[in-house]
Amino acid sequence: MVNNTGSDMIYRYLALLYCFITLAHAQLQPERVSVQLQWADQFQFAGYYVAKEKGFYKDAGLDVTIKKFDPKKLAVDEVMAGRTQYGIGRSSLLVDRMKGKDVVALAAIFQSSPFILLSLKSADIKTPHDLVGKRIMMTEDYQDTISVRAMLNSQGVQIDDLKFIQYSYNPEDIANGKTDVMACYVSNEPYVLKEKGIETNAINPEAYGFDFYSDILFTSEYEVRHHPKRVRAFVDATLKGWEYAFEHIPETAKLIKQKYNGQNKSYGSLVYEGEVLKELAFRGNQPLGAMTMEKFRRISDIYRVMGLSYSDERLDGFLYEDSANQSVPLTVSERSFLHTNTIRYTSTFNWPPFNFSALEDRDRLQGIADDFWQLIVQNTGMHTSFQPSTTWSEVLNAVKTKSVDITLGTAVSSDKEPYAIFSKPYASFPNVIVTNKTIDFLPGLSSLEGKRVAIGEGYSVADMIAKQYPKITIVGVDNTREGLKLLSANRVDAVVDILPVVAYLINADHYLDLKISGTTEFEFDVRMMIRNDYPELKSIVDKAIDGISIAQRQKIFNRYIAVSYEDRIDYSWIYRVGVLVSVVIAIFLYRQFEMGKYNKKLLQMATTDSLTGLTNRIGLDEKLLSCYQFYQREHRVFSIMIVDLDYFKRINDTYGHLVGDKVLRKVADILRQNVREVDMVGRWGGEEFMIICPSTNSAGAYNLALKIQTALSAADFVQGIAVNCSIGIAECREEDRIENVVARADNALYNAKAEGRNRISLDPIN
Ligand code: GH3
Ligand code: MG
Ligand code: MG
Repeated sequence: MVNNTGSDMIYRYLALLYCFITLAHAQLQPERVSVQLQWADQFQFAGYYVAKEKGFYKDAGLDVTIKKFDPKKLAVDEVMAGRTQYGIGRSSLLVDRMKGKDVVALAAIFQSSPFILLSLKSADIKTPHDLVGKRIMMTEDYQDTISVRAMLNSQGVQIDDLKFIQYSYNPEDIANGKTDVMACYVSNEPYVLKEKGIETNAINPEAYGFDFYSDILFTSEYEVRHHPKRVRAFVDATLKGWEYAFEHIPETAKLIKQKYNGQNKSYGSLVYEGEVLKELAFRGNQPLGAMTMEKFRRISDIYRVMGLSYSDERLDGFLYEDSANQSVPLTVSERSFLHTNTIRYTSTFNWPPFNFSALEDRDRLQGIADDFWQLIVQNTGMHTSFQPSTTWSEVLNAVKTKSVDITLGTAVSSDKEPYAIFSKPYASFPNVIVTNKTIDFLPGLSSLEGKRVAIGEGYSVADMIAKQYPKITIVGVDNTREGLKLLSANRVDAVVDILPVVAYLINADHYLDLKISGTTEFEFDVRMMIRNDYPELKSIVDKAIDGISIAQRQKIFNRYIAVSYEDRIDYSWIYRVGVLVSVVIAIFLYRQFEMGKYNKKLLQMATTDSLTGLTNRIGLDEKLLSCYQFYQREHRVFSIMIVDLDYFKRINDTYGHLVGDKVLRKVADILRQNVREVDMVGRWGGEEFMIICPSTNSAGAYNLALKIQTALSAADFVQGIAVNCSIGIAECREEDRIENVVARADNALYNAKAEGRNRISLDPIN
């Protein structure tokens, strides 16, 4: 016995040691990745060669294989199939994205495309009109040659007026008369021909307004999600390689001539290529690799006009999210402003969820305002120092005396205008009315006339209310937290503040007795406030705000005002706050809709689960609420079921997360196929799904559950994986509150699990 335990311990020790060694080994071993080139070796890929040869990749912990151009291997296909991690593509990656391929653009090496139409000087082809009737050598690939086609279209030249001939990859075909015009790179063929004494003319689509990015380094969403560090490392090392290559063009040309010269280019032509490409890479004073959504949108519009008419809906996520220092296009003077100034910012810690202390570190600022600020800092590369303030008047004073440069969240008001300027709003929220739970819906502020309403001292909404609703008695309080305290003690009748703040406070301070009963017509635009002699800072911040993607905004709001999907949740507050959060988001979305900006995308994003495409929790919340209201009004019964996959962790552990994700997607499809049109199926969280069945009692729901269970068990999953599920069902009953229904379905699910899984359990009360 003793012996046994002893050897047990040794085994454990050895196992531990083994793990340790494997881990340590894994740390030392560089990660192997590859990048697929899209053309034959030349200066066009210098950054990659240099990053490899100079050890930049190695220093970043990467062992990079540069895969040579192969006309049969499209970089997009290679990356999508996972045969390679990174690729280089053209602006047409956008179309791939819109067609459903999950490509992510990491860096645009060339700000403008080198793509031109070249012809003999003697042929005198100078404008698109001169092309009519001429033979043109250009790949027929519609997507890749769109800039040329768009240029022709815009100039009223019919594509049919040109004679396309097979691409030969040989620039001399212009000289020997095989073609009149050839599509090529401004950095190559003109020089190659010039070396041979052949003079040429070029037509550049850019000159006609068709300015596209080129040589976009890209990867897959899979890579970004599963290897975020590696992606960052690869991008940084590659850009470092490019920087070096452009700073040392002769040395790089030599390197290419020696080691990467399948095309047998001359040293001179490589140097020429380097110089032309360097100009294209830094065109418009852009930092190396810069990409903006704005430009991609413009490009996407061109694709749309040209009949590659895909919706923009998949554009979010197309740009690599933290393409640090690159996403904001700054002018030279703005950049020099940032170089010469460290930006001092201030904030109080007492405006949750906009700015407040982190739980684990009281001195650390967190919140919506701070998150937006950090994105701005990151995306502009500015240097900052934080000077905390304890009170709002301290903040105002610091801006007034210019002892700080900016503060993170406030509204425009005339008293600040003598000394401050304001950024554009980065968020906008309605002021809402909080009352006791016993109060019904309030149609607006007029219903509070003759009542006592607590509002934070100095809040701008107080003035607006005082002016428009003189019959309302405003009770000044230190802040909204104090106001809610008074309200809960019945010492005032209502509190007014913006939605996220009250949503946050009602939740944080556990006010079970309070609710949001209505909205006001007063909106609050949240802006940064900047000292008035820093107009450069305002324009930098404005540009950065423009560059913040919808996905990033959504992420920030979710962090502070949405519910976490992962935690085991205490439903009693979820339903108070969860429904509230839906309202917050719905209203927020509505605002955005009004602003005419991100409407459709945002709405869809807000209610769709990105992995499965099912409705997410917000959508489910809304449906639950509407079923519940219908039940109360019309006594129309409804049932809900929660479907939880059995031992799903094992699938992840055995086959990996990616396979787990695939299984989840397939489960989602099966559920979708097996519910009726009126039912709503959504992802409740992790591997749990909820189905809401209107006008259905628990017996009806049970039949549906049986059908689903059978379908899941019978389905073919990847690698022969078997998937079973447990299902808990509850029907809405008299005196039920909405949260009870969910809690009872969850209890039933718990019982189904406890009884051994792979079974259906009805809430015992049913
Ligand atoms: P059981 O429900 O039968 O008790 O066992 P389980 O293994 O399913 O247990 P549990 O609900 O605790 O675990 C759920 C697992 O689902 C844990 C988590 O790793 C996995 N999971 C949650 N969300 C995702 C996801 O988006 N993708 C993948 N691949 N796995 C997920
Ligand atoms: Mg679970
Ligand atoms: Mg489970």
